[in-house]
Amino acid sequence: MALAMSAAMTNACAGRRVAVLGGGIAGLTAAHELAGRGFSVTVYEIRGGVRGLGGKARSQYFRVGGHEVPGEHGYRFMPAFYRCLPETMSRIPRGATPVVDFRMPQPNSVADALVGLDRFAVARDNMPLGIIRREVPRTKDLPGLALTLGKLFHSISPRDARHMGRKLLAYYATGPIERAERFEALSFWDYMEADRLQPIARRLLESMPQSLVAMRASEGNARTLLDVLQLMMLDYGRPGSAEWVFPGPTTDVWLAPWVRLLVQLGVRFAQGPTQRIVGLEVDGGQVTAAHRAGAAPVEADLYVLATPLEGSQAILRASPTAVMGCSQLAKVLAIPSSATRWMVGLQLLLRDRDRPWTRGHVAFADSPWGITAVSQHQLWSHEHRQRITRAGGAGLLSLIVTEWERPRDSEAPRARDLTAPEIVREVVRQVASCRDLEQHPMLRADDVLAHHIDDDVRFGPRVEGNGSPLLIHPPGLWARRPSVVTGYDNLVLAGDYVQNPMDLATMEGANATGRMAANRLLDVVAHTPHDRAMVIADYQAEHVSPALRALGRASDLRYLRRRSNAPTPQPQPMPRDHDQVTHDLVTEAQSLQARAS
Ligand SMILES: Cc1cc2nc3c(=O)[nH]c(=O)nc-3n(C[C@H](O)[C@H](O)[C@H](O)COP(=O)(O)OP(=O)(O)OC[C@H]3O[C@@H](n4cnc5c(N)ncnc54)[C@H](O)[C@@H]3O)c2cc1C
Repeated sequence: MALAMSAAMTNACAGRRVAVLGGGIAGLTAAHELAGRGFSVTVYEIRGGVRGLGGKARSQYFRVGGHEVPGEHGYRFMPAFYRCLPETMSRIPRGATPVVDFRMPQPNSVADALVGLDRFAVARDNMPLGIIRREVPRTKDLPGLALTLGKLFHSISPRDARHMGRKLLAYYATGPIERAERFEALSFWDYMEADRLQPIARRLLESMPQSLVAMRASEGNARTLLDVLQLMMLDYGRPGSAEWVFPGPTTDVWLAPWVRLLVQLGVRFAQGPTQRIVGLEVDGGQVTAAHRAGAAPVEADLYVLATPLEGSQAILRASPTAVMGCSQLAKVLAIPSSATRWMVGLQLLLRDRDRPWTRGHVAFADSPWGITAVSQHQLWSHEHRQRITRAGGAGLLSLIVTEWERPRDSEAPRARDLTAPEIVREVVRQVASCRDLEQHPMLRADDVLAHHIDDDVRFGPRVEGNGSPLLIHPPGLWARRPSVVTGYDNLVLAGDYVQNPMDLATMEGANATGRMAANRLLDVVAHTPHDRAMVIADYQAEHVSPALRALGRASDLRYLRRRSNAPTPQPQPMPRDHDQVTHDLVTEAQSLQARAS
């Protein structure tokens, strides 16, 4: 029966021409789901070749002594709470094996090769590296979370550790309604009352959002950040890997096999500068064409606008008739550039010895430029490690700089004002002020054999611009983001800036919108509710234990009844040490949890 229905739907879709505009994760996901179901899909992408696909997730390559070194746009990690992305990867064979049913997991898939991690590290100036391991026995409930927090805040004073721990616990005892209404409107900084903290604790707090996206603590909203941090902390209290990375460059180990599968499913790729989409034409409530920079207009039955925020804005500015009367397209145009920031990857090829630091990512919490890093050699397969060796390298550090405008609390220069070599020197200086596990500086200037900075950053010779800013999530942004569904039946939006249940600009969010876009077009064309791409309606509901959800529901009831029964805060004696902080947090968590019953 299911097969018969699938066949019927494939017939409804067969031959329908879909133009996917933009070949990033959102666009490739939509192409995958639609081509597999019988649509005739063409992806239009400015960048050429397989290496030009994948958008912000694509790898970048540089040459050292005649050898190619694989780099990244910025290193990739996938927390274990991701659902859509791993599911897509599980359906992509690593080799050229023909795929019989694109809906089914494949043997020897891209997902099978992912490398699981169970730790990350916080590096602080002049302190030994603090490694957080996934060893908390259970984080099903608030006391479990309190134990994780006790570990996380070891580098700050007991007073500040208690303050931050209590603020986080109080948030985790709230429910989705209050989060959406109150905490979405507050900045993370204000919610955490960060002005009350000592500088060392403030810097740790600032580094928390910046290790996720290029979001300053004072700019990102409390809900987006705390929800994601909660999901990550829960992963650190579960068996299995807390996060995943690739065993090689993203393009080689994921995107190239994906493109091979898409070609097998019949997807066509029109790539290069002439394929730049420059405008949309509409007539009678339908999109009738997408104009290209250097070729005849694209005419399709259905359109997926999967360009990034700034790309979609440029297209829509040139398409006033399409925007007129379509509130979702008007929303795209209304998102200010201040809702994006720069998050830029750079790689350092190391000369004589590798710097493995830890098998996980490292947040340099005191670095004025909000640096995070992964030491890649140890995580890559033999084949890709050899590429580093062939270029004369002993290791490859992949770093991300998230603060380009306002160095944090320091005399450090603005990254925006420098040349490429000056940026590299300053990055090395900031990393070198932290100590590894043997108490040695984590890096020395003469460790660096060669470097590569994200190709999207334009130098001339100083920094002139960045072609790929990333969405941050200021208070109130959620309501101002457009939805997948537009006022045009044959046009959908996809991309990390489009509303989706993973409320953080990530590959997971981009993938989710690609699926939602495909599902919407299936609704329009096939009028049957079966065989849709899997989407996650609510990551918290999926991931958070029933005990914690019950706590949130009870809290929401109180919130809705507007019962302000919060006890007046009593002055607290100064905690003696971190063990006492952890003990106090666990006690507080138990009493919060008890209120749910
Ligand atoms: C440095 C860095 C590190 C990151 N690390 C992670 C991570 O570890 N984990 C994670 O989950 N997320 C990470 N992200 C976020 C993630 O990469 C993005 O959210 C995601 O890749 C966005 O995908 P997208 O398809 O929405 O947009 P994009 O990746 O921007 O893709 C859009 C595509 O459209 C093309 N395009 C643009 N304009 C046009 C036009 N006019 N015509 C035709 N084509 C056009 C572009 O060339 C691009 O290929 C990181 C981001 C950055 C910047």
